[in-house]
Parts: sequence; structure tokens; C-alpha cells
Amino acid sequence: MNDCLFCKIVTREFPAEIVYETGRTLAFRDIKPQAPTHVLVIPKEHHADAAALAEADDGLADDVLKTAHAVAAQEQVAEAGYRVVFNTGPAAGQTVFHVHAHVLGGRDLTWPPG
Ligand code: AMP
Ligand code: ZN
Repeated sequence: MNDCLFCKIVTREFPAEIVYETGRTLAFRDIKPQAPTHVLVIPKEHHADAAALAEADDGLADDVLKTAHAVAAQEQVAEAGYRVVFNTGPAAGQTVFHVHAHVLGGRDLTWPPG
């Protein structure tokens, strides 16, 4: 995708603070963190949202989830607890249409999320 911000982070055309990488996934810090740990995990391959990722049907969604949990462990929030969120579609607040899991932790997280 030529004009996708997160694709440009994958190719290093756009800078980001990358914290974890696998062959098919990338994790970098959210530019506007909502918690002490706020990392975005993306597949390197472009899919617009979680629904499209689920339909990819090649284990990529599995890879994204595994990377999210590896990031939580690396950030040392896994033991206390953390949240993995996919905002999917405009009504859920999705603003960047390259699927990303928010990994949030480092503080008590309230519920319902709003
Ligand atoms: P969402 O609203 O679920 O689509 O989340 C998009 C997230 O991307 C927001 O939390 C933004 O703060 C974050 N974001 C936008 N641009 C960048 C960027 N260049 N680097 C890191 N995070 C970004
Ligand atoms: Zn993209």
C-alpha cells in the first residue's frame, strides 16, 4: 500500500521506536501512549483491519497474537496483566487502516473501556 503509514514504518521510510520484530510482524511504541506500556503490533503484510487479518487464513493472525504476548513479556507487564485491543472500524475508533493490536499495560486498566 503506497500511502499507508504503517507500511512505511515496516519499510523504514517512516521512523518509529521499534521494540520487537519477527519475520512477519513488527512492534513499535504508540506515538501517543495511553498507558506506561503502549505498543502497536502489526503484520508486515498490509491488511486493513482485524476482520481482513482473520480472513487471511494463513496463520498471520496467530503470529500477531504471539508477538503481542512476547512484547508484554519483554515490557514486563505480562505478570501483572495487560490488555490487547483491536479497534476495528470507525465506530470502534480505528483511525489507521493497517491492522494493529494495541498492547497496553503498566497501570490498572478500567472496564468498560468507553
Ligand atoms: P487506532 O485508533 O486503533 O486506529 O490506533 C491508531 C494508533 O496509532 C493511535 O493510538 C495513534 O496514536 C497511533 N499512531 C499514529 N501514528 C503513529 C506513528 N507514526 N507512530 C506510532 N504510532 C502512531
Ligand atoms: Zn499498510
